[in-house]
Amino acid sequence: MPSKRQILVVDDEPSIRESMARLLKAAGYEVTTAQDGFDGLLQLRSEIPDVIISDLNMPQMSGFEFLSVLRRRFPEIPVIAVSGAYGSGDCVPGGVIADAFYAKGDHHPEELLRTVAELLRTRAERAMNHHRQSAPVWIPRNGKDSKGVPFIVLTCTECLRSFPLSVLHENLQEIQETPCLFCFTPVRYIIDFSLSVASPAEQLTAGKASV
Ligand SMILES: [Zn+2]
Repeated sequence: MPSKRQILVVDDEPSIRESMARLLKAAGYEVTTAQDGFDGLLQLRSEIPDVIISDLNMPQMSGFEFLSVLRRRFPEIPVIAVSGAYGSGDCVPGGVIADAFYAKGDHHPEELLRTVAELLRTRAERAMNHHRQSAPVWIPRNGKDSKGVPFIVLTCTECLRSFPLSVLHENLQEIQETPCLFCFTPVRYIIDFSLSVASPAEQLTAGKASV
């Protein structure tokens, strides 16, 4: 009896997390869950899953940023991006780094299971391609600090800690670099001002008990 394949589900909505976990467990997978990107990274320090399924629209660290950190730090893990805000993979903004996309409102759990099985089957060759890619960093602007200065939250790909950084030049949309606040590893990033990463409005999550 081979050991069970492990799936990490990252979603800020408990009902989605639980229904996905139920679905995957029923299909024979071992499932762990995380409530946002920070929580997901914390878990990755101790355990590496075979596949990650992540929501894109989450508070704290958005799925966009989480996936870009993942691809650079754990290129061997295939990921499925999940969202209720985009109807299909074609609508997802550029720069999102995922192997597959699943729209939350689709109600086709068998499709999700098929995708998971497909990623597990093609995992080795995907990992090779991931290693060859130089994944772009995707950093949303987070807001303004108490003095009204815009800031972003960067995540170090080496030590996986996150730290805020003031944005002094708003219109720079090119690769920048800053040392990690904790371990001093240079962190390369692009601030993307063009896309909103706010969680979708409440009505989009109505009927959220079903995936
Ligand atoms: Zn660091």
